[in-house]
Amino acid sequence: MATPTDTILARQDAFMTNNYARVPVAMVRGNGADLWDADGKQYLDLFAGFGAPILGHCHPELVEAVHAQAQKLWHVGNLLHTEPQTHLAEAISKHAFPGAKCFFSHSGADANEAAIKLARLYGNKNPGKSPHGHRYGVVTATASFHGRSFATMGATGQPKIREGFEPIVPGFSYVPFNDIDALKAAIDDNTVAVMLEPIQGEGGVNMPSDNYLKQVRKLCDERDCLLICDEVWTGVARTGKNFAHQLWDITPDIFTLAKGVGGGLALGVMVCKGELAPLFDWRTHGRAVHGTTLGGNCLTAAVAVKIWEIVDRDGLVARSAKLGDKLKADMKAMQARSNGVITDVRGAGLFVGVELDNSKLKPEIKDAPGVFKECLKRGLLINATQGTTLRIAPCLTVTEAQMDAGLKILEGVLAGK
Ligand code: PLP
Repeated sequence: MATPTDTILARQDAFMTNNYARVPVAMVRGNGADLWDADGKQYLDLFAGFGAPILGHCHPELVEAVHAQAQKLWHVGNLLHTEPQTHLAEAISKHAFPGAKCFFSHSGADANEAAIKLARLYGNKNPGKSPHGHRYGVVTATASFHGRSFATMGATGQPKIREGFEPIVPGFSYVPFNDIDALKAAIDDNTVAVMLEPIQGEGGVNMPSDNYLKQVRKLCDERDCLLICDEVWTGVARTGKNFAHQLWDITPDIFTLAKGVGGGLALGVMVCKGELAPLFDWRTHGRAVHGTTLGGNCLTAAVAVKIWEIVDRDGLVARSAKLGDKLKADMKAMQARSNGVITDVRGAGLFVGVELDNSKLKPEIKDAPGVFKECLKRGLLINATQGTTLRIAPCLTVTEAQMDAGLKILEGVLAGK
């Protein structure tokens, strides 16, 4: 007889485009770091929906916030003002830097689109010595990921993301992450911005060296380039700071948020320095130059405001740093016991990458995606990227006992036991 999971999977095949290499599991319920599938099996979630349900699944206060807002007002469009949206902008600005201003969208890709469009307007107004009469070049890093819209495919430093979609929006060039000399050489008279993830997520939780982001900031200042930090993964207390750029004590000109900022609802944010905001101001142009219908709608904004309240009240920034240090220490201890299977442990806060030597895994496990699949069979949800890296990024409310239980399962899988 078909199980409830079989039924869901069959319908997906019939009616969806199957973009994703999904595993045959259908989740129906969540609570904190626990998940249950359609057949009633329980899982421990140490990846929190790619970082989005940052306070765990169905956090009771977020459920209450969405209920309360759902009974008041959902959406009126952005020609009118709404309270949740302005409260959210204030909360983000206060957690960022003085004068920070927000534009709301729905995803990481469209937050980054907004950042790139703002940078191009800056380059129109400040042409420098560009032979084109305006600057539009954006330098990004190889192995970066910035989204799958047209401009953000261009920004993403991985050719496989762009393949089949050419011609891509022009103006993007790529340099190795962490190589300040390469960046210096890549910035030319047409360059208007440098766009980086402070910690590369999809590329394998790649950490910048201690000085790198400070050097990038200085270089951008010297060459009148905007520094755009893509904090779609790293924002909202994930790395033990409100935003990861604060780990290196720099102020970007623009940074972007998605994933955790909406707690699992569709929200993206572009945050810019106050002095850049007039470039998007309709009064500057006499017309709207950028916008989106549902950006900052009341339901998502109300939930996002509540997230910041809870982050502050419950000290979740410090908790992310402390629990993250323990996670890294535990993983390094596991590395020492792993007979070479684990070759590196890196990350900040609750955003940790574990590098594997796939040749040391049991043949039936094969590689990092194989580890992910075997963990899932045993009731643990983590993630694999780039073939060799495991990513652990639980919700900020995960308990120590849950972390310990998860790592025990992982160690068993890596040891082939
Ligand atoms: N930027 C980064 C750093 C990301 O990791 C992602 C998605 O994983 C994106 C942008 C794109 O975000 P979205 O999938 O919400 O469009």
